[in-house]
Amino acid sequence: MSKIYSLLAALGLAGLTLAAGPAAGQTALPTPGPRTCGTPAADSRQQARLKRRLPSYSPAKLAGPASAGALRTAATTYTLPVVVHIIHNGEAVGAGANISQAQVQSQIDALNEDYRNLNADGTKVPSPFQPLRADAQFQFVLAARDPSGQPLAEPGIERVRGAAKGFSGAPYADYYIDDVIKPATSWNPNQYVNIWVLALPGNELGYAQFPDNTARLGGLSTLGGDANTDGVVVTYTAFGRVGTLSAPYNQGRTLTHEMGHFLGLIHIWGDADCGNDYCPDTPTQETGNLYCPSFPHVSCSNGPSGDMFMNYMDYVDDACMQMFSGNQKDRMQAVMAAGTPRRTILLNSPALCNGTLTATATSSGAACPGSSVQLTATGAAGTTAYLWRGPNGYFSTQQNPTLANLTAAMAGTYTVTVSGAAGVCPGAASTTVVVSPAPPRPALVVSAPAQCPGAALTLSATNLVGSSLTYTWTLVSGDGLPATTNAPTLVVTPTQNSVYRLTLSGAGFGCATSDTIGVRLVAPVWSGATGNGNWFDAANWRSGCVPTRATNAVIPAGLATPYPVIGAGTAEVRTLTQQGSLLLAGGELALYGDHAGTGAFVQTGGTVATRGASAQSLRPATYRTLLVAGTGTKIIGSATITQALTLAGPVLATGAATLTLAATAQLSETETSYVLGQVQTTRTLATAADSFGGLGLTIAPASAPGATTVVRTTGQPQGVGAASSISRYFDIKAVASRGLLGATLTQQYQAHELNSLPESQLVMFRSVDAGATWTNEGATQRDATAKTVTRAFVTDLQGRWTLASATAPPTLAAVTYGISAFPVPFGAEGLSVQVSTPVAGPLSIKLYDMLGRVIYDRALATVEVGTSTVALPGAERLAPAKYVLVVQQGDQTARLNVVRQ
Ligand SMILES: [Zn+2]
Repeated sequence: MSKIYSLLAALGLAGLTLAAGPAAGQTALPTPGPRTCGTPAADSRQQARLKRRLPSYSPAKLAGPASAGALRTAATTYTLPVVVHIIHNGEAVGAGANISQAQVQSQIDALNEDYRNLNADGTKVPSPFQPLRADAQFQFVLAARDPSGQPLAEPGIERVRGAAKGFSGAPYADYYIDDVIKPATSWNPNQYVNIWVLALPGNELGYAQFPDNTARLGGLSTLGGDANTDGVVVTYTAFGRVGTLSAPYNQGRTLTHEMGHFLGLIHIWGDADCGNDYCPDTPTQETGNLYCPSFPHVSCSNGPSGDMFMNYMDYVDDACMQMFSGNQKDRMQAVMAAGTPRRTILLNSPALCNGTLTATATSSGAACPGSSVQLTATGAAGTTAYLWRGPNGYFSTQQNPTLANLTAAMAGTYTVTVSGAAGVCPGAASTTVVVSPAPPRPALVVSAPAQCPGAALTLSATNLVGSSLTYTWTLVSGDGLPATTNAPTLVVTPTQNSVYRLTLSGAGFGCATSDTIGVRLVAPVWSGATGNGNWFDAANWRSGCVPTRATNAVIPAGLATPYPVIGAGTAEVRTLTQQGSLLLAGGELALYGDHAGTGAFVQTGGTVATRGASAQSLRPATYRTLLVAGTGTKIIGSATITQALTLAGPVLATGAATLTLAATAQLSETETSYVLGQVQTTRTLATAADSFGGLGLTIAPASAPGATTVVRTTGQPQGVGAASSISRYFDIKAVASRGLLGATLTQQYQAHELNSLPESQLVMFRSVDAGATWTNEGATQRDATAKTVTRAFVTDLQGRWTLASATAPPTLAAVTYGISAFPVPFGAEGLSVQVSTPVAGPLSIKLYDMLGRVIYDRALATVEVGTSTVALPGAERLAPAKYVLVVQQGDQTARLNVVRQ
């Protein structure tokens, strides 16, 4: 005879005594005594019931493996839905057995803390047992829905007035609960953990039904009991931790304990004297501990730490139990892992469903054919899978699929079903897509397959259904749309490939329909069929179309017939791809697009003109006369101009190439139309001034430097102000750059090149190291009207020249005073003096004979900073002799002996 049975027998007597006290319906609380748990007795009763129902059934308990550790699997956190059936006597909510929602919630909170090892009083576990505390990894949620799927006003709570169900008066004996109350009130035990809260007789706090022993746990019978009795019963005064409660069972631990039975745990002493609870990590103990023992309590030779009386599966008061052990966790996890009936299946319970599913379509009203409608499904959080189905076998696994390019056949009902993790409502929702009628798509035709630019074409529509249709033609791209566009047929005159759209609408149609038709014009391709080479003869073009400013044209290579000749008139073309040769002898080749290709281009007369309104590029070629007009930007590569380049429109950019002006070519630019980039020319200079074909640089040499190449570089205007140069410079390379006689250099500039530099401060700068360092060469004359700066007495033309501010020079090399004369001795070529000075100022040059007489005297108003070469005109006429040259500038005086041979 185990002690528990004798204990229960004693308590049962006490319960009977107390049950005679308060009458049914009264709310007086029973006097608390030591903890009692009716689970073993209930188990005996349920096993007997099974035996009666199943005659071959054996209620024997499985000896089972003593090592619960062998059961251990990877632990999972399980969420179980709970319904609390509150069996009351008609009291107001919150009074007596009709406990409040808050009391229920406080119980679930306590349960979850205990089963996640989050109970604050876990710190009270004596230190030897602290390492054994386990997070059982169960959590319990109050069910959001009732068995019919309807949301519960009070989640997880069903209130049952006993009398309404024909129940006898409280308190209720266990057998009455199992035989009458449970079968009448149980919710599907495959979907809910059923908990009954009611008045139990005497001091009985609660009892549970064991699980079926699918996990083959020691100490449990094969079957736990019948389905309609499965669950947990707790007396209402021991349920939760706020509300109607009786100390010391007011911390919610009765349900913690009973739920342990429900999940396969047996009492920690094994319900026998020094019995086996099949959890090796709980010490063997003699019997259940009551009230609140002091640590340690040694029994069954289990010192020094003694009984684990603070375990939830002992019998101590609520405030004194604080833990499950690791092996107890293993048993409960094993029950779930084994697929135990009415346990594992709870994980997929629809009672966990806590969201709603909706389905919508984007458009609230009807959609038009050809448009798109988005379907939107909104499921509960955690929804992982969506499946839409609709008309004509439509399906999509996207959450929010788009129905593109709608047709009438796609109208109808679209239904989405969802599934997901526990807590997600499986379910379906639908939305309807309505497609408005529209006129049938018109069939558009054009009167001719291909046409020369500018010719008339007729567009017409067929497949026109419906009366009083409205026609609207619009231009998608290209040109040629007439003023009147509301008839079923339309005459267009495109000059380029064009696309037109016809839109149909009308009474009875909620939506419009449209379709487009493209008109493709033939590109003129030269054939030379007539044998005369006349550009303007349509028969010479394969398509019969003479090019226009709107059409591209091609001159293919390898023809046996004559290539085109333009002798007079204006030959317009957009982009001319010239793989075969072309001769321009007169008139004008007016380009509205690019000039491309590699065929021979010969210009013996006439003008090539760019007249386009958008970007144009010209092929590298030799142009005799080129006119840059129109409004578009132009690009030209390393082309050569033999006669004239006239800029009368936009900027002409050379890109990375250099445009060459032949020796006879003339450049004509304006402030707004000029060559951007590099343009060069080579001229052979004698002593006359040369302006290099209008390049903006004039050299007046006193002696002939011979072949002189000038490369002008023009950059984009910078507008950066002082310490910069203007945005153009000249690179000069002369055969003889160091003339005996100083040259006069004039640089011209344009207003946009000034970069905010004051014109009154412009002086010449020169660099002999490609712009790395600059020397201030001064200026002898400025003309703001002609936009020129002049420097006389230049000693050396070679190098890079630009204009910059004298007061804020880019980089100024130091200049010291010096003087030299050459040649020494001099002869018929004359004599020059080279002066280097750090300051500008007047200079006097005197030549004395050996008797000290002044025989030559020249005064200069100024010489500039840097080195100047000053010729002494007439010195060659001096008689052969020795002379003394005296050069004086300010307080500087230099003497040199010179000899006339
Ligand atoms: Zn128990």
